[in-house]
Amino acid sequence: MKPKVVRECAELHSLVKSLHRQGLRIGLVPTMGALHAGHISLVKESLKNSDWTIVSIFVNPTQFAPGEDFEKYPRTLESDLALLEAENEKENIIVFTPSADEMYPKNFYSYVDVAGVAQPLEGAFRPTHFRGVATVVLKLFNMTRADVAFFGQKDFQQVQVIRQFVRDLNVPIEIRMSPIKREEDGLAMSSRNRYLSSEARQRALCLSDSLNRAKEMILSQNCRSRSAVEAEIRKILEHPKHSIDYAVIVDPETLLPRPGDEIVLPVAILLAVRVDDTRLIDNLVID
Ligand code: AMP
Repeated sequence: MKPKVVRECAELHSLVKSLHRQGLRIGLVPTMGALHAGHISLVKESLKNSDWTIVSIFVNPTQFAPGEDFEKYPRTLESDLALLEAENEKENIIVFTPSADEMYPKNFYSYVDVAGVAQPLEGAFRPTHFRGVATVVLKLFNMTRADVAFFGQKDFQQVQVIRQFVRDLNVPIEIRMSPIKREEDGLAMSSRNRYLSSEARQRALCLSDSLNRAKEMILSQNCRSRSAVEAEIRKILEHPKHSIDYAVIVDPETLLPRPGDEIVLPVAILLAVRVDDTRLIDNLVID
């Protein structure tokens, strides 16, 4: 069965109200569509942990800055629905895919601004990004009245930002994070991978290769010098057609480097690299 598709907030509201009246547990998987196995792993988690799953598909304009890829971002609703149909055995998936006007009507003036974990890394390179993400995610939490929401570690900083505002604003929802789904050769799955030429896709393996090498240095060779591991990562990422926004080893809670050069576990290694014109991110957490 194709999942039920809802486009309007009012219709979603009455559906959710009736599910709540029946005491059913709602899971939410927020996405921008162009679904792949990474997204589907979140849907599977939600199906396991809730009675009903709402998958939102919305390319959120407020999280893109001018000059980013909002216009060219892939919109593939028909194939997204076909992928979700395969998961909809129990007919308990709802797809919420509103228009931009439905989400941001005229005279929309309120935004969620997170400081702290939202400031470094993505926050430094995309200064308006997390404001857009936090705003749309809080709107989706409120509209779906979900009990639990599922996010991927692929966007590790995003999960930390969401956890922060959920705590700060007492949002009554549980946040779960699922591991990164990778292609067989290690490339982290992403809707943006389709922008890569086959030659660039091959070069893009340097992201996962550098993370694996860093893990090997830290765990097998017991190298505890942050500057030495970061230098090795950069060496693997470097190429005339690559530009590194960041490649850092940080405290997974604060997303800042710990004082001094010594690596003290746990750490998160976070990368953002432009491969040709495509900006890719990847990460690894070592406990
Ligand atoms: P997006 O559609 O890119 O906004 O992603 C929607 C959700 O899917 C986010 O929580 C992402 O972290 C998650 N996601 C994207 N790629 C992957 C992946 N390769 N593995 C696991 N989760 C992912």
